[in-house]
Amino acid sequence: MIPKYITSVSELDNLVGLAPKEREKLETVTDLFPFRSNEYYLSLIDWKDGHDPLRRIVVPDAQELRKGGSADPSCEKEYTKQPGLQHKYDQTGLLLLTDVCGGICRFCFRKRLFMTCERETVKDVSANIEYIRNHPEITNVLLTGGDPLTLETRRLEKILRELREIPHVGIIRIGSKMLAYNPYRILNDPDLTYVLSRYSTPEKRIYLMAHFNHPRELTDISIRAAEALQKAGVVVVNQTPILSGINDSPETLTTLFRSLSFAGISPYYVFQCRPTTGNSLFQVPLEESYEILQKSWQACSGLAKRARFVMSHATGKIEIVGRTAEHVFMRYHQAAERADIGKFMVFRSNPIARWFDDYSHALTDFEPKKVWLF
Ligand code: SF4
Repeated sequence: MIPKYITSVSELDNLVGLAPKEREKLETVTDLFPFRSNEYYLSLIDWKDGHDPLRRIVVPDAQELRKGGSADPSCEKEYTKQPGLQHKYDQTGLLLLTDVCGGICRFCFRKRLFMTCERETVKDVSANIEYIRNHPEITNVLLTGGDPLTLETRRLEKILRELREIPHVGIIRIGSKMLAYNPYRILNDPDLTYVLSRYSTPEKRIYLMAHFNHPRELTDISIRAAEALQKAGVVVVNQTPILSGINDSPETLTTLFRSLSFAGISPYYVFQCRPTTGNSLFQVPLEESYEILQKSWQACSGLAKRARFVMSHATGKIEIVGRTAEHVFMRYHQAAERADIGKFMVFRSNPIARWFDDYSHALTDFEPKKVWLF
């Protein structure tokens, strides 16, 4: 199968038949934030169910027009050193290679790439490769966008080759939702798996950061595509935000994490949904997300619950490590300021908080009521 891409509400209407009023509503949304999907992914949706979680992932919703949120909630522009290159944590460089994806997630935290004419991605990456070459502290490079697997294999090969020529670059990560959106991109192109096998060496692996949000995205065909990557020596891991109406139930997450671990895809990060413009309908309060996750993990084996629950905040990756009725405990897993890495913070519980900024000052006089010694 070579799935055809669908990029307008009228094409979607032709394919699945929308109610006239709905079509009109969706077009108002796509005037602002475009729609993109393909025949394969749309075929996974149960169109009789207005609340189908996969539908919610790609089909526009009038609630996206609600005011509020930020175009750049993690302040990525602040860490953009030159066009198409971000450098926030010492050891990690990000190359933004494209503003095209296999589908456009309605909750994308980088939706600004699709909404404005301002370009943050670059075609010619030579200056950015040079930057990485001149920064020996960069041992990890994340290829992102957009979805790097939408690039022609030839172009991807050139980038991988040039990065592999830099001795201090160990890990190359590819952030991609293609396994979920269009696994045929991998299965139909043996050159791609050949190229990946060439540059994912026993000493220096390529990681594919997959983006399965719901267990129904893990179809037989997507598992076959993941297997093709694994056979090429690529380490496949998964990251997903917790999303209202998509995966905000312990049962759904348990099934997702279990199925991923069965397929050898380690759950890596679970994110709190960022307060991006038009994303409020997807955000679950932080402490509720934490509880959902804890419950989902109760029925998971160790390999299925290796993920950390984090917020990608402007100041760093903040892990939510615990909660009591009165307090929430957090720790900087990564930080823009080196001194903050590992910093532990205690806040008063705020059940309606959706983001780090909703918590006021960290408590400095926190004393646990009891200390249990084992
Ligand atoms: S695949 Fe990633 S970059 Fe593309 S729309 Fe989804 S979240 Fe955004």
